[in-house]
Amino acid sequence: MKQSQLFTKTRKEAPKDEVAKNAELLIRGGYIHKEMAGVYTYLPLGLRVLNNINGIIRDEMNKVGGQEILLTSLQEKDAWEKTNRWVTNPDVDVWFTTKLKNETELGLAFTHEEPLTRLMKEHIRSYRDLPVYPYQIQTKFRNELRPKGGILRGREFLMKDLYSFSKTQKEHDDFYEKSKVAYKNIFNRIGIGDKTFITFASGGTFSRYSHEFQTITSAGEDTIYLDRESGIAINKEVYIDEVIEELGLKKENLVEERAIEVGNIFKLGTKFSESLGLTYTNESGNSVPVVMGSYGIGPSRLMGTIVELLSDEKGIVWPEAVAPFRVHLVILGNSPEVAVAGDMFYEKLKTLGVETLYDDRDLRPGEKFADSDLIGIPTRVVISEKTLQAGKLEVKKRIASEAEMMDEEEFLRSL
Ligand code: ATP
Ligand code: MG
Repeated sequence: MKQSQLFTKTRKEAPKDEVAKNAELLIRGGYIHKEMAGVYTYLPLGLRVLNNINGIIRDEMNKVGGQEILLTSLQEKDAWEKTNRWVTNPDVDVWFTTKLKNETELGLAFTHEEPLTRLMKEHIRSYRDLPVYPYQIQTKFRNELRPKGGILRGREFLMKDLYSFSKTQKEHDDFYEKSKVAYKNIFNRIGIGDKTFITFASGGTFSRYSHEFQTITSAGEDTIYLDRESGIAINKEVYIDEVIEELGLKKENLVEERAIEVGNIFKLGTKFSESLGLTYTNESGNSVPVVMGSYGIGPSRLMGTIVELLSDEKGIVWPEAVAPFRVHLVILGNSPEVAVAGDMFYEKLKTLGVETLYDDRDLRPGEKFADSDLIGIPTRVVISEKTLQAGKLEVKKRIASEAEMMDEEEFLRSL
C-alpha cells in the first residue's frame, strides 16, 4: 500500500487522556481511534494486525477440531435466568442492557455459554454427535468499572471463545490438555511465548482450578507467583501454602510478578448443560448431560500486550507474524530517479507477494524515519540518491541499531 493513500495520520503528541502505553502508541501510530473510555475503533493498520492475530488463533483452533461460528450480541434474558447470570445489580454485573420497543429486555452478550448451550440442543442428540468444538471470534460487551489499560481492558472488545462439548469427563480432559498446547502455539507464534505462563487460578463447582495464560508485564493488573524453572505460576487469588504444596512447587522459588491475563480455559462440567437441559443419549441408551469447557483469548488484548512488551522509546516493534506489513519501503528526496526506482521496487515486492507499505510521501527524511519507527514494521528499506549511486538498498531491521547496505538479490533472499 502507498502511504500517500493511507488516510490515517501519525501524531507526535500522546493523547492527554490516555495513561496506557499500548493505547498511546497505537493512537499515535494511527492504528486505533479512541471513541470513549474503553471503546476503540480499529483503523486500517490496526485491523491488519488484529486480522493477523485472528488468523493465527483460527489456525490453531481449526487444528484441534474447532468449527467457526458467529453468535449474536443481542440476547434475550430467559437462557441467562436459568443459570442465574441475568443479574441486575449494577455494582457487580457487567451487562449492557436495553429494551425492544415492546419492552422486552435485552442484553449485549459479555460471554456466550448460555446461548450456545441452548443452541446445541438442536444439534446434539446421541453419543455420535460428540465431541464437538464450536468457536467464534466476536465482539463482547462488558460494562467494566474503570477501564484504564487502553485496549487491554475494553468495554467493547474482541474475544475468541471456544466451547467444548464432550461425552465424558475423560474425553473433556483430553481436549482440555490439547487446548493448552494450542494456546502455547498461539502465544509463541505471535511473539510473546517466552513471557507467557500457564497459571493456576480459581476453578468452579466442577474443578479445583481454572488455567489462565498470564503474560509478564508491568502494565498487567494481575499478580502471579511464578516458578521460572517449571514455567508454572499461581494466581494471587489461590496463592496459599496448600496449593503451592499440591502443585509440587516451593515457596522460595516463587517470584511475584505483575501480569496480564491473555487467555483463560475453564472446566465447566455439567453446570450449563444441566441448567439448560443439554443432554445426549449414551451407548447404553441413557440420557446424560454433556460435559463442557470454555476457552477464551482476547485478540485485542493480545495486540495491546505485544505493544506493551515489545515497544521502545521510538515506537512499536511488531513481531513478523502480526506486523501490518512485512516491509516498509521508504524513498528519500525528490529526484525523479529515486521515485522511479522506488515505484519499480514496490511493484516487484508486490509481484513477489511481500506485503509492503511504500512511503512515497514528499516529507523530510527525519519525519519519514520517525513515522517508520513509530509504526514499527519489522524491516525498513530505504532508496535514496545515495543508495542508487552505490547500487544497493539500505536495509534496517526495526530491532537492530544499525542499517546494512545490501544488493537487491541479497535482500530478497533474506526475506
Ligand atoms: P479479566 O480477569 O482480565 O477481567 P476475565 O477472566 O473476565 O478477564 P474471560 O471472561 O475469561 O476474562 O475472557 C476471556 C479472555 O478475554 C481473557 O482471557 C482476556 O484475554 C479477554 N478479555 C476479557 N475481558 C476483556 C476486556 N475487558 N478487554 C479486552 N479483553 C478482555
Ligand atoms: Mg480473569
